[in-house]
Amino acid sequence: GTTDDIILQTQGLTKDFKGFTAVSEVDLAVRRGSIHALIGPNGAGKTTCFNLLTKFLIPTRGTITYKGEDITRVKPADIARRGLVRSFQISAVFPHLTVLENVRIALQRKRGDSFDFWNSEHVLKELDGEAARLVEAVGLAEFSRHQAVELSYGRKRALEIATTLALDPEMMLLDEPMAGMGHEDVDRIAELIRRVSADRTILMVEHNLSVVASLSDRITVLARGKVLAEGDYATVSKDPRVIEAYIGA
Ligand code: ADP
Repeated sequence: GTTDDIILQTQGLTKDFKGFTAVSEVDLAVRRGSIHALIGPNGAGKTTCFNLLTKFLIPTRGTITYKGEDITRVKPADIARRGLVRSFQISAVFPHLTVLENVRIALQRKRGDSFDFWNSEHVLKELDGEAARLVEAVGLAEFSRHQAVELSYGRKRALEIATTLALDPEMMLLDEPMAGMGHEDVDRIAELIRRVSADRTILMVEHNLSVVASLSDRITVLARGKVLAEGDYATVSKDPRVIEAYIGA
């Protein structure tokens, strides 16, 4: 494809921490509409990369381009406004509100907070309908009236995806969406990610390699801050450097 297909790109992305280079000259190109996984052994620089992409950290060198615009110096809140949203580590779920209420609040946040606007019964009703549709879409319809705190681990994650989807992101960054989950939850979330990826781009850091294998269109392997390999799962999993990085970790 052409570069028009690339929604997010980094060039020479580098982050030094007091002389230690956590991310080194990373060139990443995420294709629009794809599920792209960032993998690698502990300490490879995956989290630092995500923090650079969402502007929690300022790069030492390099550029980040999103939808053809240089966002290297854009503020974190502005990144979300442009449609690039990170889930899981920052997505707030209020434990004692219901599933439906949590999603409605996320929708309200997206729409703005003008007092007059929120007084309109018509708008509130419309939001309820939209919230119910999102709750249904993530498979939580039968739990709509349950408090978030009552949900299983995997369903809580599904609720986080719903609150993230409420922001209508064009691209979602998922931090280890399957961390700490049992088989059933893993299957449910994998299915959900597959479904929401139909009309958006997903970049995820995930340790569960069978999930990565089944979900990802493309995989970038990091080791010691550098890109070690890139390609589909069949290609990178056979790469001797990748095997060595995992074994040597
Ligand atoms: P991963 O997510 O792949 O496990 P990280 O991005 O968390 O890797 O870390 C990459 C390396 O950078 C690690 O060696 C880590 O200790 C180091 N590192 C991360 N954050 C900081 C920091 N704030 N200060 C110093 N070193 C850091």
